[in-house]
Amino acid sequence: MAALEIHQIPVWDDNYVYLAHDAASASTAVIDPAEAETVLKAAEARGWNITHILNTHHHPDHVGGNLEIKQATGCTIVGARSDAGRIPGIDVQVGEGDTYEMGSATAKVFDVPGHTSGHIAYWFEESDALFCGDTLFALGCGRLFEGTAEQMWRSLDKFRALPGTTRVYCAHEYTQANARFAVTVDPENATLAVRVGEIDRLRAEGRPTVPSTIAEELATNPFMRADDDGIAATVGLAGADPVAIFAEVRGRKDRF
Ligand code: ZN
Ligand code: FE
Repeated sequence: MAALEIHQIPVWDDNYVYLAHDAASASTAVIDPAEAETVLKAAEARGWNITHILNTHHHPDHVGGNLEIKQATGCTIVGARSDAGRIPGIDVQVGEGDTYEMGSATAKVFDVPGHTSGHIAYWFEESDALFCGDTLFALGCGRLFEGTAEQMWRSLDKFRALPGTTRVYCAHEYTQANARFAVTVDPENATLAVRVGEIDRLRAEGRPTVPSTIAEELATNPFMRADDDGIAATVGLAGADPVAIFAEVRGRKDRF
């Protein structure tokens, strides 16, 4: 199959909604529609008919457009089996290890609890694309609203195993604030320093910093690097278990 064509739609203050278009089957998925109107217009402008909504979790800024888009297009709504009661209009329930065929494109589903208990992610391996919602951000990760540090670390560990070329389509432009924090726990990381400069340049030009790649996150995102000796030493936990280091880094970010 040909790779998905992915279109990024900035909505509200800092949300990203995505259209993923599979030309071979004329299918188009919306990932995490915060709202309907902007998304419907963006699809129409491209001549794409929305056939699917893929939700990563139940928060209003990810499912807010579900019912209106479904009413307008008759699309199929896909969401977490473990959270079906909180996904408006859900038609298809998926979970860890499932594959979902979106037209001729295949998504592999991961359960990634931590930000919410029923958070899932969609990996389109053939398109090198990961839709991870609010689990992994560029240089950050989601807040632990409904999960433990250990759950979130295990969730991020699934992403650490993906190919470095995988593009990380996260749901928020939080990168610049994340960068300000990242340098406080990973001050010796030269690759991070270079990336922070690039992020500042992009934002000064009003451009998105998303998507990044798994390789970039592995090299510079402190939440993906809780097993790094330098970070462990900086937070005073040299030799500790990665879960404890992750918990400390997450706690520091919450207070930052
Ligand atoms: Zn959220
Ligand atoms: Fe969100």
